[in-house]
Amino acid sequence: MPERLAICPGSFDPLTNGHVAIMRRGLALFDRILVAVTINLKKTPLFTAEERMEMVRGSFPDDPRIEVAQLDGLLAAYARDKGAVAILRGLRAPSDFEYELQMAQMNRHLYRDLDTVFLASDADGSYVSSSLVKEVARLGGYVDDMVPAHVAAALHQKLRAGA
Ligand code: ADP
Repeated sequence: MPERLAICPGSFDPLTNGHVAIMRRGLALFDRILVAVTINLKKTPLFTAEERMEMVRGSFPDDPRIEVAQLDGLLAAYARDKGAVAILRGLRAPSDFEYELQMAQMNRHLYRDLDTVFLASDADGSYVSSSLVKEVARLGGYVDDMVPAHVAAALHQKLRAGA
């Protein structure tokens, strides 16, 4: 049987435990996952693309089924190039759904063979978002239970440096 590759795109600024859970659960469904760290033109990231890629690598240090790459262009074209069978995304709340549905439909319009698989986040992590983690951390709140330990260290270092 051909290998089933899923692409898990996102800005991951920073990577949270919610993201890691979606990737880990995705490994039960797909043979390999390519995490595509996106350049979101609407947001100025706190972390560079290389730093965000390192956060993913650091969460799966010994798992060759997880690959990480930077995505600058169109996701549908990238998925076709890589021979991916699906896009893997997480859904936290109904508010995520509207945007995610539109993206999934657009991607299928652009590349007919590309399906999007949504995994519902665990209820106890559905309030965790990268933007809220950054905001809480900036205001001195405790975020170390919402992100992997190496991400918490990187976040504290970045904020100490005045970012
Ligand atoms: P984007 O900027 O493309 O929305 P994000 O890094 O914010 O990228 O999120 C990437 C994916 O991970 C999205 O599908 C998002 O819904 C999902 N996600 C984000 N936070 C969580 C979480 N706490 N639990 C499950 N999925 C999540």
